[in-house]
Amino acid sequence: MKTFCGRANPTTGSMEWLEEGEDYDYHQEIARSRYADMLHDKDRNVKYYQGIRAAVSRVKERGEKAIVLDIGTGTGLLSMMAASAGADFCYAIEVFKPMANAAVKIVEKNGFSDRIKVINKHSTEVTVGPDGDMQCRANILVTELFDTELIGEGALPTYEHAHKYLVQEGCEAVPHRATVYVQLVESRRMWSWKKLFPLHVEAEDGEKILVPPSEMENCPGVPSVCDIQLNQMPSSDFSTLSDVVTMFSVDFSKPVQSASTYYRVQLESVKSGKAQIVLSWWDIDMDPSGMINCTMAPYWVKPTSALQWRDHWMQCVYFLPREEPVLQGEKLYLTACRDEYSVWYSLQKAREGENKADEEEHKADVCVESPVCRCRAHLLWNRPRFGELNDQSRTRQYIKSLRKVLKTDSVCLCISDGSLLPVLAHYLGAKQVQCMQPSSMDLYYPHELWQTFFKANNLEDKIKIIEARPELLKPSHLEDKKISVLVGEPFFTTSLLPWHNLYFWYARTAVSPHLASNVTVLPQSASLHMMIVEFQDLWRIRSPCGICEGFDVQTMDDMIKDSLNFRESREAEPHPLWEYPCKSLSDPQEVLTFDFTKTVPEHCLSTEGSVKLLRKGKSHGAVLWMEYHLAADISVSTGLMQLSDEKGSCEWNPHCKQAVYFFSSVIESEILSDPTAVTYAINFDTKTGEIAMDFKL
Ligand code: SAH
Repeated sequence: MKTFCGRANPTTGSMEWLEEGEDYDYHQEIARSRYADMLHDKDRNVKYYQGIRAAVSRVKERGEKAIVLDIGTGTGLLSMMAASAGADFCYAIEVFKPMANAAVKIVEKNGFSDRIKVINKHSTEVTVGPDGDMQCRANILVTELFDTELIGEGALPTYEHAHKYLVQEGCEAVPHRATVYVQLVESRRMWSWKKLFPLHVEAEDGEKILVPPSEMENCPGVPSVCDIQLNQMPSSDFSTLSDVVTMFSVDFSKPVQSASTYYRVQLESVKSGKAQIVLSWWDIDMDPSGMINCTMAPYWVKPTSALQWRDHWMQCVYFLPREEPVLQGEKLYLTACRDEYSVWYSLQKAREGENKADEEEHKADVCVESPVCRCRAHLLWNRPRFGELNDQSRTRQYIKSLRKVLKTDSVCLCISDGSLLPVLAHYLGAKQVQCMQPSSMDLYYPHELWQTFFKANNLEDKIKIIEARPELLKPSHLEDKKISVLVGEPFFTTSLLPWHNLYFWYARTAVSPHLASNVTVLPQSASLHMMIVEFQDLWRIRSPCGICEGFDVQTMDDMIKDSLNFRESREAEPHPLWEYPCKSLSDPQEVLTFDFTKTVPEHCLSTEGSVKLLRKGKSHGAVLWMEYHLAADISVSTGLMQLSDEKGSCEWNPHCKQAVYFFSSVIESEILSDPTAVTYAINFDTKTGEIAMDFKL
């Protein structure tokens, strides 16, 4: 079987569909999966084990045989826990074939083959009866089918089906119950991920304010969940307007309904402010009494308890459809609507002297429809991109450098996706401004959005959108003029890794015939930077587990290692490092530069060298990012913003993902008079636009 995988080509900025072998997909799935992270989640594992033991005991005390159904067994871990706890038989269901095969091996290696039957099926395909997959219905239901939003991986329909067809009435369930919590907050930082703020520009002829069109102001945004490591959000970046309240719970031991519904709670604001965001997380009780509880609550909720780091379950940020001013002590209703797989929120104010009948009436204005972007901006810009466009200090750098290079007779072409640079260039006095948005053209053409955007700002005839790719640019597109200033952020929607935005260089090369001989290119150059780091936690996602709660899961470790080494090319992966703290062990180092004043060379750009490890710590990997040199003395970094103090703590650009290359083995460096060095070889292949790297520790 062949699969087609979509991948952006960094030399053309377009999506290409490559034919891959059968193995490709599953190696990707395994290598990038969260299985390792789950196996390292001690808190989760310990509590599941406790809950399973308690459930098996309760069934045994009733004098029944303990028959377990484990839906989504993965490595087989929860079934092995049940078997060790004395369960008579376990049906371990796993839909993903490579995992089901791994589960068979792991179960065998741990000596449970006689009591655990692995079934490679989706749970809804499982049959019960003398000739079925299961001999009889189970009386213990164990699952771990939750994502950060709780229900996003289909837990509700799976439970609904299991209660109808696979388990006995009155069965024990581990977990027994899940509860979703919410807290209303105001946060300029998080709100800037959903909305475009007015942009102020000091122009020659006075201050200009770029405003979003009203369609954008009132747009509910996109339905996809915004899940983040909320524990990395400093308390100075938001202000809580309500207490933490319980939004809804699900009892997994009873029949579950997956059909769309809504829940509503009354809140009283504890502070006056602007209600913008609903922060949410959940906990699961492994037993009916609630004594064994596993929570995703962020740091400010239970400041005394130790936080378990995990990446497979984080916290959710929901954006209210509109910002709502609230007064301290004001009564509010918060409504959570959900369908089978997702949740969304709205806020209503309680009216004076409200009674039950009015409340019924309220139900009519509850948002039953899941949010759909009407303004199209939320399709063009994802949340980090909104944040980036709203970053005033970044915008100031671009304004400062545009001011340096623009003249009144400038003919300016901007090449970047969904960029505001053309508007800035116009405000700052360029005579003629046109723009190209090469990658977003493939995905979705944002022409209409720009028309409304320009209209709202009286810019309709000021900026021209060229609907052609750079290689197809014709003199007529430019009114037969040569480009005197070529600008880019650069930013392209198809970029995954930092250097994929070097597509700007390829585009610049393609439009060369249209450039004036004295053209200014902004940025004039880019550089790739690198630093060796010790991660506080992120290392777990790539680290072998070995033994998990007494069970040998090395088969899984080997499988992940194989998939990572698939095609013998280990690759760097994108991670937003503001969410994943690390400590620098070396100085940041510039490793390659790319000169945008020239065209892309034919030959590869390579470099070799070594980095000294200056601090004590474990070298988990190298972090790489790009810096753009806009004009003389003005640069922007998509990676390290600041390296503070002697301890090597780092501040990362909060809007960008950096590239992380995990070393296959970790070395511990001591403070040495003769520091250890890591040698590297990095190669930028100008034919493919990809960077390959190799490190020796
Ligand atoms: N139980 C394991 C793994 C949990 S990950 C552990 O706790 O460590 C969830 C697994 O469930 C994934 O492997 C996924 O492929 C599988 N899965 C999800 N829904 C399923 C369903 N309805 N039927 C069978 N497998 C399912």
